[in-house]
Amino acid sequence: MPSSPLPGKVFLVGGGPGDPDLLTVKAVRLLAAADVVVYDNLVSPAVLAHAPPQAQRIYVGKKAGKHALPQEEINQLLVELAREGKQVVRLKGGDPYIFGRGGEEAETLVAAGIPFEAVPGVTAAAGAAAYTGIPLTHRDHAQSCFLVTGHLKDESCNLDWPTLARAGQTLVIYMGLTSLPEISRQLIAHGMAADTPAACVRRATLPDQQVITGTITDLPAQVLAAGLKPPALLIIGRVVSLHTVLHPVAGTLGQES
Ligand code: SAH
Repeated sequence: MPSSPLPGKVFLVGGGPGDPDLLTVKAVRLLAAADVVVYDNLVSPAVLAHAPPQAQRIYVGKKAGKHALPQEEINQLLVELAREGKQVVRLKGGDPYIFGRGGEEAETLVAAGIPFEAVPGVTAAAGAAAYTGIPLTHRDHAQSCFLVTGHLKDESCNLDWPTLARAGQTLVIYMGLTSLPEISRQLIAHGMAADTPAACVRRATLPDQQVITGTITDLPAQVLAAGLKPPALLIIGRVVSLHTVLHPVAGTLGQES
């Protein structure tokens, strides 16, 4: 394309888990300089507000009942916008390279010869950990931490259950709310102690954050009873028992009594 403008650049930016104070300085700087922001449904309005009013905003997430723009089309859109010479911020919830499909978008950009940069963000697991008082590792409880997708393909169990069911570690399951009953069954069937503490954290770091704690056995029924809807994370392991001590509100109440 000899007569087209110089290609712009695409920034794959992590917008964090929701609280706008968790944006990185770099994300704020890039948003302020953006010509176009391409964003999805996990990006909070307060985060988007860092883009200037004249910046074009393109929503590519899911609308109630409707599917998101197919990934192929998002990839193509980023290429086209950059070819128009624009500074494009592709703003994603959490971190772009953790269950964010940032890798797929980056591959398309490389193949198209578009300059790009990935900008990390606070992933939902880290946000939920800090805002619920559940450290993901702790020398007394968990020596490792798995970040897992609970979006199971069909009904087949394509996760490594024997590994995930082991003691001494923490599981953080993204997109696991719908599959929670199956996850609970599989973990117990593969040897996880039935009384292993487990939590479900909805809208972590946002003012309406909800936390439900229980065990891997009773969490599915509790979540059902509470009618929790996505986005939510599951945190499974003995670290969850620290929530009662370390949760900011619980801690404050504890000091008062
Ligand atoms: N790239 C994102 C994850 C996108 S996958 C990140 O790094 O955080 C979408 C899933 O992330 C949701 O289904 C949910 O499991 C989780 N998630 C994202 N934001 C969340 C939040 N504020 N509270 C709880 N879970 C969240």
